[in-house]
Amino acid sequence: MSKVRAVVHGLLTVLFVAGLVVFLLLSTNHEWPWKGSLPKDPLKAAQKILEASPVIDGHIDLPELVRMVYANNVSAVDLEHEMPGHVDIPRLRKGRVGGFFWSVYTACPEHAGYDAGEDFLNATWRVRDTLEQIDVAKLLIDKYPNTFQLARSSQDIKDAITEGKIASLLGVEGAHQLGNSIAVLRQYHELGVRYVTLTHMCHNAFADSCGFLEAPEPLHGGLSEIGVALIAEMNRIGVLVDLSHTADATAKQALKLTKAPVIWSHSSSRAIWNVSRNVPDDVLELVGSGENKTDGVVMVNFAPYFVGAEGNATIASVADHVEHIAKIAGKKHVGLGSDYDGIEDVPSGLEDVSKYPQLFAELYKRGWSRYDLAGLSGGNLLRVFEGAEAVARKLQQEGTQPAYDIYKKRTDIGKKREL
Ligand SMILES: [Zn+2]
Repeated sequence: MSKVRAVVHGLLTVLFVAGLVVFLLLSTNHEWPWKGSLPKDPLKAAQKILEASPVIDGHIDLPELVRMVYANNVSAVDLEHEMPGHVDIPRLRKGRVGGFFWSVYTACPEHAGYDAGEDFLNATWRVRDTLEQIDVAKLLIDKYPNTFQLARSSQDIKDAITEGKIASLLGVEGAHQLGNSIAVLRQYHELGVRYVTLTHMCHNAFADSCGFLEAPEPLHGGLSEIGVALIAEMNRIGVLVDLSHTADATAKQALKLTKAPVIWSHSSSRAIWNVSRNVPDDVLELVGSGENKTDGVVMVNFAPYFVGAEGNATIASVADHVEHIAKIAGKKHVGLGSDYDGIEDVPSGLEDVSKYPQLFAELYKRGWSRYDLAGLSGGNLLRVFEGAEAVARKLQQEGTQPAYDIYKKRTDIGKKREL
């Protein structure tokens, strides 16, 4: 088993290096700072680094803002001018953003006025609303073809960046959005979804959640039986397993089970600020490149209530989260998942998507190299995504069958066929 792991790790490393080389060759700015000196001013240095290696943010809630503020009327949304939230095109450009996951989020049933029932069997419109969110995201991406480009693969991300566009990926924020069905996962994938967060703030049929600031009573003790099957299918089709919002037990079990690298699309460090929504050190220790570790990237969340005590969220405290995750898991395993447009309050100095360079300047001052910062901005996420794609290709080449598992509590469908 350890031999297989070593071979897989070796393969992933080769793929990563190859990917990085391709990425650099494709870079539009050929003088970019792999050689030569950077400006003395930290902000200018950060801007120069980000010009060649732009930010790929793991979690932005623009589609949710369009749902809540514009009733999904994309024609009323003007991204070329100042938007009410944290995101619009001028600010994305100023912030050196090269890509982000558009969260196609719908709230947990109980937060949207529905009662899913104790077995999650009641209809709650979560799948309809997810499809509406995907629709909104795609309509907005299409509305600005010179700015956004839908990305379904790591190659798509690199192509978009090379063309000076913002790679636009889709992420589903919680398996409660799957209607208890792995078939729905496959169809979301067909529509372009490339990560699914295993839970939001509620437990669901697949897995236990970490709640908001304090962990609720567990339901399954981590993953359920159908949750195990879900991860296998995500690995097979190349949908990233996102462990943000999950209970510690869910994360630990998922890390053991997954054959592909994982992400935390928007999570910070519990050692820095002790809330259940942040990732604890004993989970971070399972992430990395060594023996008995799983490759992954923890993308730091900017939401002030996850960053520190009220009034204490600043660029420096967000940088503390980045540095702590880097200290435990390694600098190749940290990224950024701001949660912009999904949070009302913001850290001082990180008011919107135009401010990423300020965070990079802070880390540059703390001694982070251009290579480390290029990993933080997007390189680490790209490596993980490429790793997940390679695993999916391999599983499919080996003839791994789709997961036909049905949620056991369902009574509206026949029993699972014996093969
Ligand atoms: Zn979230």
